[in-house]
Amino acid sequence: MRTGLDAREAQRIILEAVQTLPPEVCAAALARDRVLAEAVVSARRLPPWAVSAMDGYALHGCDLEASGSTLRVTQEVAAGAPPGAPLQPGETARIFTGAPVPPDAAAVVRQEDTERRDDGVVVTVGVKAGENIRDAGEDIEVGDRALVEGTPLGPAALGVLASVGRSTVSVVQRPRVALLSSGDELIEPDGDPGVGRIVSSNSYSLAAQTQAAGAEPIYAGIAADTPEALETMLRASLDHHVIVSSAGVSVGDRDYVRPVLDRLGCELIFWGVKIKPGYPLVFGRFGDTGPLVFGLPGNPVSAMVTFEQFVRPALLKMAGERALFRPRVRARLGERLTKGAGRLHLVRVVLERSGAEIVATSTGNQSSGVLRSMARAQGLLIFPAEATELAAGDTAEVQVLDPRVLATEDSGL
Ligand code: AMP
Ligand code: MG
Repeated sequence: MRTGLDAREAQRIILEAVQTLPPEVCAAALARDRVLAEAVVSARRLPPWAVSAMDGYALHGCDLEASGSTLRVTQEVAAGAPPGAPLQPGETARIFTGAPVPPDAAAVVRQEDTERRDDGVVVTVGVKAGENIRDAGEDIEVGDRALVEGTPLGPAALGVLASVGRSTVSVVQRPRVALLSSGDELIEPDGDPGVGRIVSSNSYSLAAQTQAAGAEPIYAGIAADTPEALETMLRASLDHHVIVSSAGVSVGDRDYVRPVLDRLGCELIFWGVKIKPGYPLVFGRFGDTGPLVFGLPGNPVSAMVTFEQFVRPALLKMAGERALFRPRVRARLGERLTKGAGRLHLVRVVLERSGAEIVATSTGNQSSGVLRSMARAQGLLIFPAEATELAAGDTAEVQVLDPRVLATEDSGL
């Protein structure tokens, strides 16, 4: 087992071990944010006929320049109706948005550009051929690849899926993630803290991170600090795609996660990544087909930050996503930061716009136990491993944790 890896190397090893999960059939109505596992080839033409883009009058090709003369209204075509009878020169059809244009109609003139008379309608403008007509197949032709494999299904893609008549769709499975906490001091939120006990907050923050990454968390519970308790809980989690545990993975006498994983036949790939918070991270796998295992450190911020850097990209890759990493911004430091050389720090920061720039300021106490400063964090500033000082006014890369940070106060319209 390798130890003391650079963060980037650890990430590379993890992503190399991750396979995209197989597909499953999903109701289209439930498929939002899932990743398409098939190419959607259309058996339909959209629009199925040439249709009017406006409420107005359909004109014969001979009448496009007939501005000022009166045309006879010989038919009316509503949306959902058949296209009507062929138009003759001098005739017009009253037509509504979405209605199929009659055969031989060359254009539609907007109602606003006409005047209704007793004996017909007068067009008050010149009209170009094709104006206000949406051609058959303008959007999608029969046999078109309406959506390509690997597309994340956003609202527009779901609309396309519906348009071509699909009510079910093949999507990449969502990773099922067993979450287990370990430690004799841990209780559930409604438990009695008594003396020396604390709530297992990791169960909640890691479950939320799992869900936010599009995966399904399955809470296994809290294991006591004994090899037997851990072994029982890990065994019960082996049929999931991923096992994420927190705590018990450091060098203490009661840190049993690594020996128990080893005993269960897990291949331990590495332990220890040179980052702060979060050094004691173990990564392993149960063969080629069993679950991947992330033994995260127990401190609440270390658990969250290591999840963010190492588990989240793995879950996204499993789910078929191609965008595995957070957006980053280059931010100007609002204050001086210092540290020792050797470990990459991820500094919890608040981000603020200042003109065209973004200014990053520390959320305060950066201890790995201070979860409140993580709750305030809008980004994680990358303080490179070998750097020891970043001066106020320097710039640095910041991973943006929440896209709300980039929201603006007006729409820009
Ligand atoms: P350990 O890795 O077991 O030494 O735990 C490191 C620190 O994280 C200790 O202070 C634990 O109490 C704390 N901790 C461990 N697990 C959790 C958890 N599930 N929720 C909150 N804090 C935890
Ligand atoms: Mg412990």
